[in-house]
Amino acid sequence: MTSVSEQQNLRPPPHVLIFPLPVQGHLNPMLKVAHLLCLAEFHVTFIISEFNHRRLLQHTTASAAFSRYPGFQFWTLPDGLPDDHPRSGHGAMELMSSVANVTVPLFKKMMIQENLLASAARRSVTCFVADGLLSFAPDFCEENGIPLICFRPAPASYFWAIYRFPQLLQAQEIPFEGKSMDGLIKSIPGMEGFLRRRDLPGFYRVDDINDPTLKGVVAAVMLIHRAQAVILNTCEDLEGQILEEMQKHVPRVFSIGPIHEQVKYRLMEKKTESSIITASLWAEDRSCIDWLDAQPPKSVVYVSFGSITLLTRKQVLEFLHGLLESSHRFLWVMRPDSVTGSNGEDPIPTELMERIKGKGLLVEWAPQEKVLNHPAVGGFMTHSGWNSTLESIAAGVPMVCWPYLGDQQINSRFVSEVWKIGLDIKDTCDRKIIEEAIRDVMEVRKDEFMERSGNLAKLVKRTISKGGSSYNNWDDLIQYIKSLVI
Ligand code: UDP
Repeated sequence: MTSVSEQQNLRPPPHVLIFPLPVQGHLNPMLKVAHLLCLAEFHVTFIISEFNHRRLLQHTTASAAFSRYPGFQFWTLPDGLPDDHPRSGHGAMELMSSVANVTVPLFKKMMIQENLLASAARRSVTCFVADGLLSFAPDFCEENGIPLICFRPAPASYFWAIYRFPQLLQAQEIPFEGKSMDGLIKSIPGMEGFLRRRDLPGFYRVDDINDPTLKGVVAAVMLIHRAQAVILNTCEDLEGQILEEMQKHVPRVFSIGPIHEQVKYRLMEKKTESSIITASLWAEDRSCIDWLDAQPPKSVVYVSFGSITLLTRKQVLEFLHGLLESSHRFLWVMRPDSVTGSNGEDPIPTELMERIKGKGLLVEWAPQEKVLNHPAVGGFMTHSGWNSTLESIAAGVPMVCWPYLGDQQINSRFVSEVWKIGLDIKDTCDRKIIEEAIRDVMEVRKDEFMERSGNLAKLVKRTISKGGSSYNNWDDLIQYIKSLVI
């Protein structure tokens, strides 16, 4: 006869359903969470748009890599947009609506038809890890009796700054209505003294407090009260004070980041042959690594504005002149769809292309983590997307921040004022300012930035290592998900 514990061991493991928004910055960390769950021998179903699945198959080995884990499966659904739709810039907003109007109804139908994905080999879904922006998730989970864990791909500071919307409004710190952008914000505990109006998440930059996008992001943050827990890609060493404030209101917060480092560490610890799984939606141009190999140590500025940012041709030229005048070498990721207002002209005039030769390299998409960890890279000109920020912190690379939208405005303030590992040039786009910021980070104040960045990199590496807080929080999360299985 088998004992109760033996019987439990024979039963299939927990089955976690993961549903990210179909954009690069959400797909990356949530696919890594899926990998971590596979390492814990859980069953995982990962919802991905047909469009992104095709791109993953085309540009990565993700599918083959996950085939090592028999408990893992992708479920593809349409995102409702034609293939040639620009899913960046404002197109990203259309993508959000299309997911709500097309993908979500199909998802719900599929879940009913498939009996919550139960089969002979796997339980029906025992826990739903949903992107925090998917507002249908709480109702869906309540109707189907599934515990909900929200995944928020942005930092705690962003969550907290949006959560304090009612207090900001009451203190008349929003709407901005011509008030000084440099005025200090007082109604967000933990950020008094350094957070200015201009550093609030970009969604606050509206004249009308009833702006639908702002209302949407506030509502999404408040959904947390209908979830059992929240996962954050951050750590106590980066945002300890903010996490403490947040936890007074949100009881079960699992800060497990930087997730990309947590995966690396767990793989190393397990001594598995499985490798890091990348989720690039564009073809990585690996020739840039050969180019970096030929550059002196810490001599190159890596320039990337992520997967969604759009630049006007004028802005491209300001950055380019700033970079060229700084005299530092650079590697610039310029996505083919990222420059607007060219009116059919090449974004970069021929005479400037001549000046770039030998000094700089332009690519359409890079293996970013590899680039940031390359010895030739000494600085990162970034839009301050949270994944890029974490990757730069973990690699110990100082930043020049030029935030674009959403959480980026607050992330860049933390880089310059809290961790002091770079400069924030938000709300300007001037070649002289860009040149000076690059010179500051790459030469004038190089040593202090390098020292602080190196120290912070050590701290975050420690946090995901055995005994560190993010390491322990991941173990706690695994136990918590196990406890949800009836
Ligand atoms: N990325 C990449 N290659 C590039 C540019 C970006 O692999 O050439 C990755 C980067 O490593 C990061 C993600 O794309 O993981 C961008 O996410 P982030 O949150 O920084 O910005 P977003 O694209 O969401 O604005």
